[in-house]
Amino acid sequence: MPKQARLSGIKSFYCNTIGEASEVAGVSLRTIRNWASDGLHVMNGTRPALIRGDDLRDYIKSKRKSLSVRTRIDAFYCVKCRKERRAAEGFVDCEVKQGRAKLTAFCETYETVVSKPVAESLIPEIARTLDLKITLL
Ligand SMILES: [Zn+2]
Repeated sequence: MPKQARLSGIKSFYCNTIGEASEVAGVSLRTIRNWASDGLHVMNGTRPALIRGDDLRDYIKSKRKSLSVRTRIDAFYCVKCRKERRAAEGFVDCEVKQGRAKLTAFCETYETVVSKPVAESLIPEIARTLDLKITLL
């Protein structure tokens, strides 16, 4: 995700021009226009075009929800690839501390380190498909 849009400054019942919407959400004019063609509700027949604050908030919230990616238990979300990736060669470092484990590996492209926290109880299941090097901290 590029820049995180802000929700905090958006007033629900205020009608924003494209410029105001871009300012309160902290994104570019182009982003607002892209959102408008992607489903953000713009009020009909007004000049300039107006966007209700609550429509803007709802749109940003639904966008956030769709962007949060659930990864498979033996896969990682890579911030560089911006998608789910497998661990390179299936090799994963696993640091265990107080019932929690942190898995760290190279993205399958070998360009980025990927990691994620998991519950210690999931380690046996993960170890079926990944080669875990377990360190107890
Ligand atoms: Zn990657």
